[in-house]
Amino acid sequence: LKERNARHLWHPMAHPADMQANPPDIIVGGEGVEITDVDGHRTVDAVGGLWNVNLGYSCAPVKEAIARQLDRLPYYSIFRGTTNDNVIVLAEMLKAFFAPDGMERAFYTSGGSDSVEVALRLARQYHKLRGEAGRVKYLSLKKGYHGTHTLGASVNGNANFRTQYEPLMPGCFHVPAPYPYRNPFNETDPERLAGLVLAAIEDEIRFQDPSTIATFIMEPVLGAGGVIPPHESFMPGVRELCTKYGLLLIADEVITAFGRTGDWSGSRHWGVQPDLMTTAKAITNGYFPFGAVMISGGVAEVFESDGSGKGAIGSGYTYSGHPVGAAAAIATLKETERLNVKDNAAARGDQLFAGLRALQEKYAVIGDVRGGHGLMLALELVSDRAAKAPIDKKTIGTVQRATYEAGAMIRVSGNNIILSPPLVLSEADAATILGALDAGFAAVS
Ligand code: PMP
Repeated sequence: LKERNARHLWHPMAHPADMQANPPDIIVGGEGVEITDVDGHRTVDAVGGLWNVNLGYSCAPVKEAIARQLDRLPYYSIFRGTTNDNVIVLAEMLKAFFAPDGMERAFYTSGGSDSVEVALRLARQYHKLRGEAGRVKYLSLKKGYHGTHTLGASVNGNANFRTQYEPLMPGCFHVPAPYPYRNPFNETDPERLAGLVLAAIEDEIRFQDPSTIATFIMEPVLGAGGVIPPHESFMPGVRELCTKYGLLLIADEVITAFGRTGDWSGSRHWGVQPDLMTTAKAITNGYFPFGAVMISGGVAEVFESDGSGKGAIGSGYTYSGHPVGAAAAIATLKETERLNVKDNAAARGDQLFAGLRALQEKYAVIGDVRGGHGLMLALELVSDRAAKAPIDKKTIGTVQRATYEAGAMIRVSGNNIILSPPLVLSEADAATILGALDAGFAAVS
């Protein structure tokens, strides 16, 4: 399998040379929070699939809901006049779940990149319907990740995901992320930094001319860019600026929705109501590709008050609201609430954060430890703490491999190690992850 994998698969995120040095792990089993590779090696999955397997790999109610739905109706489209019963039930559940975030309507997609694309397009259409067709630009954060479609890639704030595809969508502007460890202001205090970044955003809005900007899109906690939690004043500050200048605020909650930050959404974590919210990933616990764009009442009204039908979204996906995906999402949402996974995410997140800080005392390669907001954590590795020089790829690869051998699958992104385990992680599982990381760092010390 390993040889055939190298020969036949296209791995867009891994260089063939790295894969030869570090053969990919072929995962063949999953149970609870553990995965098993083709050699029979079991590890705690500290990646949680890809931030999505919140309830672990043996979630019986979701499996049963999928099986039942496959027997009942495997597929029918939501297109023009048709729909299915599951998506209606799910929309009501999502509305109730996100009511404190001000979300009223759901539009279904097949994943996060689709959700981002739809939200950005809705933002443009919203302004057009209100007679402000000139609002066409997008603002976003450097370090933000918003998926792989062309519009999402254009608002991505990480050059790696953009530069190969340029010219991308015109009218996309990026402002510095509130990233205390590295920022153009040389400001390490999170609160002061939040103020500086907010001032930079306001500057950019004025410079671009607010009447030309459609939306500000942001992750409540930057995820794929290296888990960068902002100061608590930051997202409320962005909300204020959006309101002041008439921009829609899109919260990209593909990672943060459904409990990961220790609250039911990242926006709620910061006490903010966005205008649009993107979700995907954990909505089906990884059991089915599915997503939902949540639309606030104020935005929905503009679309729905237009009796001519011009407000209708001009497109949809073949797999929008797939009945099996919707069945999986209904069961996932029920389990997510029943198990109250947000509180466990907060407790296990605190445990891991403290453990990672203890590892930082022990290992000089750990330059920065980020966490404190549920089960989104990162370690930034450097070869020199004073100069903050990113560690080389080979060393971080050795840490990853040794951690894996010692019992935990972790994710490496640039010079960061990212942890996003299932939200049902136990205290003992969290200790296993920390022990495995200890062994991983010992291998390069
Ligand atoms: N937005 C965010 C914040 C994400 O983290 C991701 C995926 N990591 C996406 C969008 C894209 O989601 P998908 O991979 O499901 O297309």
